[in-house]
Amino acid sequence: MYRTNTCGELRLADAGKKVTLAGWVQRIRKMGSLNFVDLRDRYGITQLVADDTADKTVIDTINSLGREYVIQAEGVVSERQSKNPKMPTGDIEIKLDKINILNAAVTPPFTIEDQSDGGDDLRAKYRYLDLRRGPLQRALALRHRMAIETRNYLDGNNFMEIETPFLIKSTPEGARDFVVPSRMNPGEFYALPQSPQTFKQLLMVAGYDRYFQIVRCFRDEDLRADRQPEFTQIDCEMSFVEREDILKMFEGLVKHLFKNVLGKTFDEPFERISYDEAMSFYGSDKPDLRFGMQMHEITSLVQGKGFSVFDSAEYVGAIAVPGCANYSRKQTDELTEWVKRPQVGAKGLVFIKFADEVKSTIDKFYTPEQIAEIAKNVGAEKGDLILILCGPKHKTQVALGTLRLEMGSRLGLRKPEDFKPLWVYDFPLLEWDDETQRFYAMHHPFTSPKPEDLDKFYSNKQEDLADVKANAYDIVLNGNEIGGGSIRIFDRKIQERMFEILGFSHEQAEYRFGFLMNAFKFGAPPHGGIAFGFDRLCALFGGQETIRDFIAFPKNNMGRDVMAEAPSVIDDAQMEELFLKSTVKKEQ
Ligand code: ASP
Repeated sequence: MYRTNTCGELRLADAGKKVTLAGWVQRIRKMGSLNFVDLRDRYGITQLVADDTADKTVIDTINSLGREYVIQAEGVVSERQSKNPKMPTGDIEIKLDKINILNAAVTPPFTIEDQSDGGDDLRAKYRYLDLRRGPLQRALALRHRMAIETRNYLDGNNFMEIETPFLIKSTPEGARDFVVPSRMNPGEFYALPQSPQTFKQLLMVAGYDRYFQIVRCFRDEDLRADRQPEFTQIDCEMSFVEREDILKMFEGLVKHLFKNVLGKTFDEPFERISYDEAMSFYGSDKPDLRFGMQMHEITSLVQGKGFSVFDSAEYVGAIAVPGCANYSRKQTDELTEWVKRPQVGAKGLVFIKFADEVKSTIDKFYTPEQIAEIAKNVGAEKGDLILILCGPKHKTQVALGTLRLEMGSRLGLRKPEDFKPLWVYDFPLLEWDDETQRFYAMHHPFTSPKPEDLDKFYSNKQEDLADVKANAYDIVLNGNEIGGGSIRIFDRKIQERMFEILGFSHEQAEYRFGFLMNAFKFGAPPHGGIAFGFDRLCALFGGQETIRDFIAFPKNNMGRDVMAEAPSVIDDAQMEELFLKSTVKKEQ
């Protein structure tokens, strides 16, 4: 037997027991006549001790140990002289009788402790060593618990976990596909799924009315910060449901996870706001509700008073930043530069220091009464700093929303241990793209338009189509979209019209999605679903900003596995076998 116990479980109550532990040497220390070894496994750290009177072979072996050696240690659990209240095993140590080196280790390139001295690149290259560290172990343990609790909840609600294929047909709509050449079908390619969307809908046609899967998805996108080319979704679909049924079921899932993983309960239903409201109050379709500082439109209030910058703007909006009226010139200058950064994109910043003495950059154009009126409209209190942006509506709302988040962060109002989940619903169905001069589905082409907007959906006017709302919803947590879904189109005619709006010819639609449209002929039930970004959900539950630590073997931000060095070139023979040098069959 390699071990009788783990390195995390022994307590004072075990004193006197003879035990055998196995694990990695974290640290070796000599203090006077005492030799200490900290032994680590994934359950914790236990201190081993031998004094100079111990068996000589024990002392010799300790002297020959290095960090990360794999050892087996036998001894008696004893009460410590000086206890360490910070460690769960801190009351005891193991008085060594025997110690046995199972495997030597070369010195690791960085310290394997909660605070490592290794940089990101080095730790990524030696991911298996990084994974020995406590923070990563805790992250993966949390992820495991999240997955188990997800399965428990969904299983308890009659969902079936069904696997869908990874080698599927490429349907270039949405993000770019990763493709896989087919050796047996020269010149043809599979795609890796961006999500199991079409398959889960086919499962509804097949009668599996509650489906889920914790599933890997692949998207070949330029990697923005903290995106992974392969990521995991909790993918779900239900039949015979309306939006309300879905929101209830999956609000239930999120509450179940909070309760069973973090011990947090939510007594109130999650807040719900429409897309339009989210944009006007928060300048974002994924608002962070951990703090207020809502945006207020003041366009009509400020126009016509002779200030041409406001007069010519489509939109003027403001936020009141609590307690910041005493900002210095230097601070407001810095904020002005901040909003002009390309990532924010505002042309300039107007501010009002709303204190006993009101100071602002627009004193020339507005009387003190008018300024007071603005302050009232944006809900400012004495002592607040009012920040105003103006310009084209959508762009300025987004910029003001970004500024709101920044001020929230600066004031420490976005605490990772606070959780504010909400639903955002009634998204636009379509998004116009100027470059390609066509509409794209904002969610995906299977999302149904709201029934009350069907007239506009069949209209040929661009502004009517842009106005159609989708029966789609997102679930948002602390400024992050953690899931999204929709009630689907299940009527073949509406689906055909959707493809037409997206600019597909009848033949193109047939070629890409014929299998789905065909299935709709055979009795498709009304259905809808949702998918959660599992990596992000885990990171947020773990109070972290980045998902990388919650994935055992992530890619770097160039999409590379720096440990195994993938992707890599393949040799000519392999290329030829895959017909990668021959002419590729074209899509009809
Ligand atoms: N398949 C969708 C996505 O990946 C989610 C859904 O509509 O269920 O975003």
